[in-house]
Amino acid sequence: MLVYLATENPGKVHEMKRIFDVRLPGTELKCVADLPADIRSAYSAEETGTTYSENALIKAKALARLVKGTVLSEDSGFEVEALGNSPGVWSARYAPTDKERCEKILSSLAAIPGAKRAAQFVACAVVMEDERNPAYFFGRHRGAVADSRRGELGFGYDPIFIPEGDTRTWGEVPENTKLMVSHRGRALELAIQYMIARRSLI
Ligand code: IMP
Repeated sequence: MLVYLATENPGKVHEMKRIFDVRLPGTELKCVADLPADIRSAYSAEETGTTYSENALIKAKALARLVKGTVLSEDSGFEVEALGNSPGVWSARYAPTDKERCEKILSSLAAIPGAKRAAQFVACAVVMEDERNPAYFFGRHRGAVADSRRGELGFGYDPIFIPEGDTRTWGEVPENTKLMVSHRGRALELAIQYMIARRSLI
């Protein structure tokens, strides 16, 4: 089976490919960067939505217009309760770099006396096998914001996120610990089950 991944985020592409390796080995995955130059330059997905599902649909549609076959997109974000669930859908645009985004969360929390540190990652995956029937799948992972950035693994907000039941950040744990149980792992697990079920019906 060939699946097109509607994302340009290298951290996500890496995790999505690893999740498929575990759950549906043999699947051929092509992300935007793997496509011919004319398709790459034609791909444009402006994330103008205010929800994960709207943005995931925008990305899936943008790629579905350019390729034939199954398209999988994913939109995700980091929500910090004491910051009114910010940055949420704006997580990728919260500050210029991953490091600055993490620092901005830490300094915003430091400015609120006694702030609770509860946080979660949320993901919405969209599978588009034909343009009229997108299917949506959600995943989340709860935890807390660490006191400082810890660990060099993962990407994005991983170095400041301590998942429930652990004392280490996702920047400190081996990739396998995060992969299948993360917000992305859970949303993709449901998306993969859907793709398998669709195929067995055809
Ligand atoms: P978008 O879905 O492309 O809008 O980007 C989501 C953003 O949320 C990423 O660029 C990261 O900053 C953050 N994010 C989403 N998932 C993760 C994760 O698994 N670890 C760390 N940061 C994440």
